[in-house]
Amino acid sequence: MIYLDNAATTRVRQEVLDKMLPYLTDFYGNPSSIYALGREAKKAIEDARAKVAAALSADKNEIYFTGSGTEADNWAIKSAALSYAGKGKHIIASQVEHHAVLHTCEALKKEGYEITYLPVDEYGIINPGDLEKAIRPDTILISVMFANNEIGSIQPVKEIGRIAREHKVLFHTDAVQAAGHVPINVNEMNIDMLSLSGHKMYAPKGIGALYAKQGIKLAPFIHGGAQERKKRAGTENVANIAALGEAISLIVSEMDGEAAKAEKLRDKLINGILTEIPHARLNGSAKSRLPGNVNISFEFIEGESLLLLLDMKGIAASSGSACTSGSLDPSHVLMATGLKHEMAHGSLRLTIGKYNTEEEIDKVLEELPPIVKRLRDMSPLYEQYIKDNIKDKKEGK
Ligand code: PLP
Repeated sequence: MIYLDNAATTRVRQEVLDKMLPYLTDFYGNPSSIYALGREAKKAIEDARAKVAAALSADKNEIYFTGSGTEADNWAIKSAALSYAGKGKHIIASQVEHHAVLHTCEALKKEGYEITYLPVDEYGIINPGDLEKAIRPDTILISVMFANNEIGSIQPVKEIGRIAREHKVLFHTDAVQAAGHVPINVNEMNIDMLSLSGHKMYAPKGIGALYAKQGIKLAPFIHGGAQERKKRAGTENVANIAALGEAISLIVSEMDGEAAKAEKLRDKLINGILTEIPHARLNGSAKSRLPGNVNISFEFIEGESLLLLLDMKGIAASSGSACTSGSLDPSHVLMATGLKHEMAHGSLRLTIGKYNTEEEIDKVLEELPPIVKRLRDMSPLYEQYIKDNIKDKKEGK
């Protein structure tokens, strides 16, 4: 199988598995227990916290473990809403956020909060000028993702942080796709809250983290015991936490080399597809783009059919966000970039990870063009396009 869906999830890497397994077998103590077995578990959590903090240039006390990236997004936004309601009830987010952010904002809307969704340009990137104009005296939070999960566009995070700081508004960024793939420094970028997730960086599913800057008001998210400094109760998932610490520390130490490798494969894939297949368009920015993201729309075909035929060839890809598959609506991200419905429906996302090879990319470039051709040959829209084209040529248009 050729796995090209690393933005959906990644395989747990061996070093990470080796790190986490002892906490399921030998050191299975409850981290709240005072005997040695418990203390070992507690130590693993604190080691992992230090590693996550180091990866973001944050302080250890600013890291809270969560059950997922989704939970970290929910926590950041709901906490800001709850803690700063005295100042106002206005939140700014972008139109291309992940549903973990968008649906949290929609839930708050029902509670009386007002949300401004910033538009994006054709590359999926917000205009900092629009952000500045949208800020009001009652704005309490700006939530703009670091990098997009569908089209890989990287937002001008430092600029957003500067604007947020200048206007004394909290800035949260969903860095689930960015963490470990592009450099992040929460202080230099003026980030107040940041969400990340383990399973996008070769740790298991079901573990995430929230960075919350010292001094900001962070409301408790889950009530119960005293875990996570009384803010996120529940016996800690020690093995997964240890895994996240190991995974983030490894991925950050390897970032430069891995990014260069992924970019090379990405650009080969993009150029190969655009050269070989007519009526195809790159979605997202060519420059401000995650190293491993390829997202291309093909006219006259359905992304879902493309996925099925690729699957029959052993190629795992995505037609958008895995979280939205099962829905027939076109991707809100592609629509926000101004893509027509038909083009948004014909999109293919291929995301490269550390285990992909050049041979695999060559194989995709060999398999994809005939699949697209086959689907177009069955498409009434394509047939009509060809007929119109012949007619136009005859008429000398
Ligand atoms: N935010 C972004 C940008 C994502 O891509 C995802 C997952 O795809 C999430 C949040 C949710 O993370 P998790 O799967 O850990 O809940």
